Amino acid sequence: MSNWQELEAKYYMQVVARTPLTLVRGRGARVWDDNGREYLDFVGGWAVNILGHCHPAVTQAVTEQAKTLIHTSNQFYTIPQVRLAELLIQNSCLDRVFFCNSGTEASEGAVKLARRYGKLHLDGAYEVITAINSFHGRTLAMVAATGQAKFQEPYTPLPVGFTNVKYNDIEAIKSATTPQTCAVMLEPLQGEGGVNIPSEGYLAAVRDWCDRKGLLLILDEIQTGLARTGTLFAYEQHGIEPDIMTLAKGIASGLPIGAILAKERASVFTTGDHGSTFGGNPVACAAGYATLKFILENNIAAHVRTVGEHLASGLAELKQRFTFVSDVRGRGLLAAMEFKSDIAAAVVAACLDGGLLVNKLKANALRFMPPLIISSSQVDEALGILGKALSSVSSHVEAE
Ligand SMILES: *Cc1c(COP(=O)(O)O)cnc(C)c1O
Repeated sequence: MSNWQELEAKYYMQVVARTPLTLVRGRGARVWDDNGREYLDFVGGWAVNILGHCHPAVTQAVTEQAKTLIHTSNQFYTIPQVRLAELLIQNSCLDRVFFCNSGTEASEGAVKLARRYGKLHLDGAYEVITAINSFHGRTLAMVAATGQAKFQEPYTPLPVGFTNVKYNDIEAIKSATTPQTCAVMLEPLQGEGGVNIPSEGYLAAVRDWCDRKGLLLILDEIQTGLARTGTLFAYEQHGIEPDIMTLAKGIASGLPIGAILAKERASVFTTGDHGSTFGGNPVACAAGYATLKFILENNIAAHVRTVGEHLASGLAELKQRFTFVSDVRGRGLLAAMEFKSDIAAAVVAACLDGGLLVNKLKANALRFMPPLIISSSQVDEALGILGKALSSVSSHVEAE
C-alpha cells in the first residue's frame, strides 16, 4: 500500500470503500497510477468523464477561463453561464435553467421548485412520489426521496413529503397520489439502484397520469443525460417530455456542476426563492459549454448507440460462456452484469489485476459506465480482460 493510502486512512472520513489504487494521470479512456501502471477506465469517474480524461477541448476551455475569470458570484452576469444555458435550452425540451454544484443539489432544487408550484397552483400540495431503488442524492431531503433503506436508516427522522413506491408500476403511483401530491420524480432508468430499465410505456403512462392530475413530472437525468443512454436525454426514447429535469455528473466533464431545467409553466421561482454561491461559476460553465458543444458537433449520441450495442453483445456472449452470470442489461454506455452469487468484489479485483477499472454496483453485480468517446476496440480490450477475470473467479465459484 502506498503512503498516500495510509495517509488517507489516517485523515479522511472513512465513508467510501475505495479500490486500492492512487490515480495520478488520465488521458482519453485510460488512467495511470502512482507506480506508472496503466488502466482502461470503465468507471469513468462514476459516469462523469464523458469525454474521457483531460479531453483537449475541455482542458483548453478550463485553462483559458481560469486565466480570465474564475468566480464572480451570481450578483453579476457572466458569459460562460449564459452560453451554456442557451446551448442546453436550445437542445432540450425545457425553457429555463438554473445551475448548482452537484446532482444532489439539482434534485433538491427540483423538489423545491415543485413545492413552490404546489403552493401557487395546487392548493399547497407538497408531496413528491419517488421510486424504490431510486437514487437522488445525499442531503437529508434527497435521502428521503431516495427509496433505499441503507441510505435512510442511519439518518431518521427524515424530512416529510416523500412517498417511495415500486418502480415500473404505474398503479403504485396512482394509489400513492393524494390531494397533497405535487410531483412525481423518477429516473428514466435507475442507475445506482441497479441499472433497472422500465418497461416500454411506463414513463408515458406516468406522464399521462401527471397530466390528468395536474402533477409535475420531474425526471432525474443526472446519470442518463448527456448522451449516456444513446440519445442526448433519455426522455427522448420514451416519447414524453418532463416538466422539470435535473442534470449533473457529465455536464462539465468532471468540474462540479448541476442543473435544474424547467418548462416555462413550471419555472415558478422568483427573485430570492433559490440561489447558490458557486453555482454556474465561469470555469464550470466554460467546461460545460465545451463538453456539450463537442457532444453535439460530433454526434456522440450516435456513437454511444453503436459502441453501446457492441458492448451489449460482448456482455451477452460472456453471459453465454459463464453460467454464473445471471443477467446483463443496459442502454447505450450504461450497463450492468449480475451474478448468481456475491462475487462482484472478486471480479472487480481480477479486472484490476488485468488493467481494467469497473464499478461494483452491488455484492452480486458490476456496472460499466465508460467515457462516451470509447472506441469499439477499447470495448473489445475491456471485454477480453473481463472474460479472463470471470475465468479466474469461475474455478472458485464452481467449487462453492
Ligand atoms: C449521482 C446521482 C445523483 C447525485 O449526484 P451528486 O453529484 O453525487 O450529488 C442523483 N441522481 C442520480 C440519478 C445520480 O446518478
